[in-house]
Amino acid sequence: MTAEKTDAIVLRAVGWSETSLIVTLLTRDFGKVSALAKGARRPKSPFEAALDLLCRCRIVFLPKSGDVLDLLTEAKLMRQFRNRTQRLKNLYAAYYVAELLRELIDHGQPQADVYHLADETLLKLEQDAQVDGVLLQFEMSLLKLLGHQPSMTRCVGCDTPLLDEGPVHFGLLVSGVLCDRCVAGQRQVIRMRGESRKIFTLLSEESDWESGWLTIPDLVRGECRAIIQRYLTVHFDRQWQLHRYLEDLAR
Ligand SMILES: [Zn+2]
Repeated sequence: MTAEKTDAIVLRAVGWSETSLIVTLLTRDFGKVSALAKGARRPKSPFEAALDLLCRCRIVFLPKSGDVLDLLTEAKLMRQFRNRTQRLKNLYAAYYVAELLRELIDHGQPQADVYHLADETLLKLEQDAQVDGVLLQFEMSLLKLLGHQPSMTRCVGCDTPLLDEGPVHFGLLVSGVLCDRCVAGQRQVIRMRGESRKIFTLLSEESDWESGWLTIPDLVRGECRAIIQRYLTVHFDRQWQLHRYLEDLAR
């Protein structure tokens, strides 16, 4: 096995033995990697602080075949997550970014775009950003890159463009907006304000997520958060740990 080099973001680090860690990394060139870091818990670890949660580091690892963990041989710290805002919400949002990536990215599927999106999002969350805007931009971009983007402009039932700017039905199970005809008999449908749909539409059309920061108007901030969280829960059929923490802070 030849050693591979790449950049990585630490999505999780758990103790494996008294001296070793198992780390889950989002890499730029190899998708998600789970690797054993021998000696990482020793006082004078060869990895130093590079394997703390959300660190970006340059790594060298030996890929193993089958169910065996890869072996991490080097990790050099490039950047720690520094929450300059001191706000808990920015920190929870960053943990949530790690949770989404950990669960939605496959092992060994190179996705450089996802890596750059994650890196960019963490940089924004270190600063004084509107967390709801940054998160929604991240969630929608990630869904798009992974091919799970909901349809916001055309009815998912009959493909009719929905031009009315008023409230609209959004089908969580069918992943998109529904016209008045197609909504009949559908389960898990919620109402979405026109203003919210405008934001979701903008995010689904935007080709370059690096361009600018999104600020969601106060009027629909809560609704946009609620919609994306319910969509992620229903669409992937799972509860997201950090949703609860982010909701608690919003109260
Ligand atoms: Zn329809």
